[in-house]
Amino acid sequence: MPILIRNIVLAPGEGDDVLGTRVAERFGVPERDIQSVHLVRKSIDARRKPRVIIVCTVLCRLLDEAGFLARHGHDPDVKAVKDEPQPVFPRLAGGGRIVIVGMGPAGLFAALRLAEYGLAPTILERGRPVEERTRDVQAFWSLGELDTESNVQFGEGGAGTFSDGKLTTRVNDPRIGYVLQKLVDFGAPPEILHLAKPHVGTDQLRRVVAGIRQGLLAAGCDIRFRSRVTDIVPREGRVGAVTVNGSDEVAADVLILAPGHSARDTYDMLARRGVHLQAKPFAMGVRVEHPQELINGIQYGKGHHPALPPADYALAHNDRRTGRSAYSFCMCPGGVVVAGSSEEGGVVTNGMSAHLRNTPFANSALVVTVGPDDFGSSSPLAGVEFQRHWERRAFEAGGGGYRAPAQNLLSFLGMKGRKGVSSSYRPGVTETDLSRVLPAAVTGTLREGLRVFDRKMRGFVTAEATLTGVETRTSAPVRIVRGEDCQSVSLQGLYPTGEGAGYAGGIMSAALDGIRVADIIAGKITAETRSA
Ligand code: FAD
Repeated sequence: MPILIRNIVLAPGEGDDVLGTRVAERFGVPERDIQSVHLVRKSIDARRKPRVIIVCTVLCRLLDEAGFLARHGHDPDVKAVKDEPQPVFPRLAGGGRIVIVGMGPAGLFAALRLAEYGLAPTILERGRPVEERTRDVQAFWSLGELDTESNVQFGEGGAGTFSDGKLTTRVNDPRIGYVLQKLVDFGAPPEILHLAKPHVGTDQLRRVVAGIRQGLLAAGCDIRFRSRVTDIVPREGRVGAVTVNGSDEVAADVLILAPGHSARDTYDMLARRGVHLQAKPFAMGVRVEHPQELINGIQYGKGHHPALPPADYALAHNDRRTGRSAYSFCMCPGGVVVAGSSEEGGVVTNGMSAHLRNTPFANSALVVTVGPDDFGSSSPLAGVEFQRHWERRAFEAGGGGYRAPAQNLLSFLGMKGRKGVSSSYRPGVTETDLSRVLPAAVTGTLREGLRVFDRKMRGFVTAEATLTGVETRTSAPVRIVRGEDCQSVSLQGLYPTGEGAGYAGGIMSAALDGIRVADIIAGKITAETRSA
């Protein structure tokens, strides 16, 4: 029986090949008795800086496992574990025509999972294949020419394609391993299987997305790009078909809707069709950008080991007076701030990194929760209008051409010091007072939060940091309400999923939600087949 051993410590720069030796040293077993050591988890512990250590969990096979357990079974770091059985997917047939809208993580993983059951859905994606999309996005960043159908939000791979590709989630789901393994199968670095904070990086993610497309085509899926779903056609009180690009009809008995949080026209269409929607809170604010070396120094201590990866951080502050929270979000070590607009005349910031995280900059969103009370209307789509309003304000403050408003961090806090901005955001920034492009409550909470963050991470508030705005697309401002079986509560056959449906936030949780919906649909087909 494999034995799980926690808290095996490596020094920075030490390779995984010494793990067996460490196990042998710690438990006094001859190294030749250790048959295999499999790394399960690896994390950095910088609590006692400047002594930073790498903490590992390993799965070992030993010559005398019974004897080892008799001697060390009482150690809280030692546990005998059973081999995990591989999931089994029965081959299914029938179930009608399944259509998936959107090729972000939710849509792609719903499709991959259905393919495991032998089902081959039709997949409709408004944007372009990732290779073409990459060129469109580069043109936007260099020239400020936005393609509203092919951008950082829309196109194959979804919103996370131009991202850091962080795969962490607060969701605890046994299917996380399945998602990670699939990503590795399609070309992601195998280290994501054991890193405590796995990330893929935009460069690798684009390859993975193209690989998934090939896998889905090989499984018989019908993938259609430049195919924007503009209407849902109900028949006999349930989904019957969808309209594509305002003209073509595609029959659909089951519709998995995974449009992401930026498909505002799709939300409008659902509202027109009477699909039950609800306004929901999200967060907005700015991107903060520091020199990466400064963040490394704060997190790892001065003179840290050069083999340590670029440091990240996670900061949060609850303002008891107002009940609002300010927090860091989507931190990108060694990355750049990116223009994430999908609508003309609006500026939106976000962040991305390559797998190596090798730029000299560290950026993160700094955001504050906003909710229906801030939106100024009781419409379910009020949050969308709220986002649009502040994105347009940012566009105007940037002076046009999708330049973003930016401000030195000290100047945002009204502190003395060298002023001036330095941002990796393209097509460029315009120095301005950021309080003009943020709701007063957000500005106030951010200012208070930043002072607290500087106490938690000494040196965070510095003249070397620039704020760029606005960060509005943190999560969906709308929920497409669904029931226990993941179906829309108002239209049978419609399965809203992922971030745009309001049931996920981030690549991993969106992928998990897509799988959840696919498993429910497969379960229904199985039940129908049995009763037929
Ligand atoms: P999306 O990924 O948004 O995919 C929706 C898809 O549907 C899109 O491809 C869109 O073109 C398509 N679509 C929309 N409407 C229609 C329609 N009517 N017809 C046909 N197709 C349609 N999350 C992380 O976990 N880690 C990160 O590091 C990270 N970094 C990010 C960086 C950036 C720049 C951005 C923008 C996001 C980042 N995120 C990150 C968030 C993450 O990308 C999203 O949470 C995730 O992609 C949501 O997945 P989804 O499948 O629900 O929706």
